[in-house]
Amino acid sequence: MTQANGYAATSPSARLAPFSFDRRTPGQLDVALDVLYCGVCHSDLHTARNEWQNTVYPSVPGHEIVGRVTAVGDLVSKFKVGDLVGVGCMVDSCQHCAPCADGLEQYCENGFTGTYNGPEQGTGANTYGGYSSHMVVRESFVLGISHAEADLAAVAPLLCAGITTYSPLRQWKVGPGHKVGIVGLGGLGHMGVKIAAAMGAHVVLFTTSANKREDALRLGAREVVVSRNADEMAAHAASFDFILNTVAAPHNLDAFLALLKLDGTMTLLGAPASPHPSPSVFSLIMKRRRLAGSLIGGIKETQEMLDFCAQHGIVSDIETIRMDEIETAYERMLKSDVKYRFVVDMATLKAA
Ligand code: NAP
Ligand code: ZN
Repeated sequence: MTQANGYAATSPSARLAPFSFDRRTPGQLDVALDVLYCGVCHSDLHTARNEWQNTVYPSVPGHEIVGRVTAVGDLVSKFKVGDLVGVGCMVDSCQHCAPCADGLEQYCENGFTGTYNGPEQGTGANTYGGYSSHMVVRESFVLGISHAEADLAAVAPLLCAGITTYSPLRQWKVGPGHKVGIVGLGGLGHMGVKIAAAMGAHVVLFTTSANKREDALRLGAREVVVSRNADEMAAHAASFDFILNTVAAPHNLDAFLALLKLDGTMTLLGAPASPHPSPSVFSLIMKRRRLAGSLIGGIKETQEMLDFCAQHGIVSDIETIRMDEIETAYERMLKSDVKYRFVVDMATLKAA
């Protein structure tokens, strides 16, 4: 065992605060890493505040992790001490069900092990995430990073926001000639814009924040629609092949379904604490439209996404914060005031 230092929530209403806990000694198949940067996902906030009513306290969030390998087990072959690596939303899964065999560990029939909020395979113990000094992770859930070291902080958000948008864009075969909508310009949304544009799609960004228009165009959108403006919405009726909806709050889905053309699909990524108002069946049946969902992405696909982003020069647009600024970052995220991902510089943990 080694003692790790981190930041934890101890109840839905408590502010995150310093917390010490044990990490296991690396086993033969484990990689140990010092956490250098950790992105701040809206899921961290949902979990810290028990908005999904499944939080095990104390809770150490953080699943957009980049760091440097400090030790490897005897049987580890892919990584060595000194390598830059990433860890995303999962640290384990059963490894024997059909989805696991297909590289879809996020849909493990026996439940994957979250990087935080567990449960650990076998022991059922709670897991503690990346708002911490170091981690010990099974090799098969560690990702290689080929971006330049100078980009490391901005690579961290790829481990969740990147893969969560890349996976459905691939699943629905987005590419040249496709008109693709991205709803919400936050952490996920801004990665969706960059990745869909790199895949060759005509990207339209939907936002509730008119002041994000210029940024959306800079990030790769060809058009921007303020979704609260009915006329701007109506101009795009029945014209989209695919829409990726990243909004973290309940809203009227019919307004976006109406923008899909025949056989178009809208995939939901946002996981609000309370349900969306039910969409109208007519929104779906009149044009054989589909409403879908998607959960992060598998480990193989996460590596593919990291390599795709490295090749296309894609990183996240970030604002680096100190660990003790996490509550301010959460409050700003709730006000849609994030450009476009907060990343904690873990070197600031000692001072905190
Ligand atoms: P975020 O950075 O807070 O971005 C969400 C964006 O949604 C906001 O920036 C805002 O964009 C828009 N928005 C917020 N409130 C809204 C409202 N009331 N009506 C319309 N739009 C609103 O959050 P995130 O980290 O990208 O995460 C988004 C959601 O995805 C969260 O619920 C998170 O838990 C979930 N998530 C799901 C997965 C998955 O595997 N499916 C993975 C990671 C995260 P504008 O200002 O442009 O309107
Ligand atoms: Zn996340």
